[in-house]
Amino acid sequence: MDDLGALQAMAVPYELELTAEEWSTLSTFLDLLTEANSRMNLTRIVEREDAWRRHVLDSLTLLPFIEAAGARHLLDLGSGGGFPGIPLAICRPDLPVTLLEATGKKARYLAETATSLGLDHVTVLSERAETLGSPDGGGRGAWDVVTARAVGGLPVLLELALPLVSDGGALLAIKGERAEQEIAEAGQALRTLKATIEITRRTPTGTIVVARRTGPIARQWPRRPGEPARAPIGGVPRDQR
Ligand code: SAH
Repeated sequence: MDDLGALQAMAVPYELELTAEEWSTLSTFLDLLTEANSRMNLTRIVEREDAWRRHVLDSLTLLPFIEAAGARHLLDLGSGGGFPGIPLAICRPDLPVTLLEATGKKARYLAETATSLGLDHVTVLSERAETLGSPDGGGRGAWDVVTARAVGGLPVLLELALPLVSDGGALLAIKGERAEQEIAEAGQALRTLKATIEITRRTPTGTIVVARRTGPIARQWPRRPGEPARAPIGGVPRDQR
């Protein structure tokens, strides 16, 4: 277990109020990630303080937005090593959390990790967002909040995520320095997929972008697996993303 006082000091700029038990579970989670990372490629951030800041605390910047949305079911799209989904699940034991991860090996790691941590309210789906969100995919409009970090530029992410969001629900994306530029490039995707950017907020480690769904999405979206990234809506060339 990491030193609790040091963690609380590190978390001051994040205005988090966590219990000792939550800190302890988050610490165990980082241990499990580090162990699994020696077997598969989950993260390049290995130094402990860096991992706390750029993975755990960064993930938890979404907590007030999840609270404000009154989330009832949350899906984390492209969880990878478990961010932001697992830290959020640790701090919201009352909220059903689904982790969606296309790579089977990573999905198995996520399921084992959730079990080890005793997170009974976490479900892992090993599937592509394009399939799950298609008209026969079983997940269309099924979550009132979808979170995502580091899953494509905003126009691509909107096509992957918004079909999974219920009408009136929201996508909470953690973006980086280029958030404003990505939003500027996402105008056509927002019009096509019936959503608006409601909030952008800088945090100590990123920029949170909240996209709200405002109407029904035509059946043709999302396109088949791979298409959203290959030819993003609005046609932003790859070298400019
Ligand atoms: N969210 C994590 C991982 C980011 S890497 C973090 O911030 O650390 C992006 C992850 O999304 C990868 O694990 C990749 O396998 C997954 N992914 C990419 N496209 C996807 C899709 N269309 N459907 C589901 N998962 C996808």
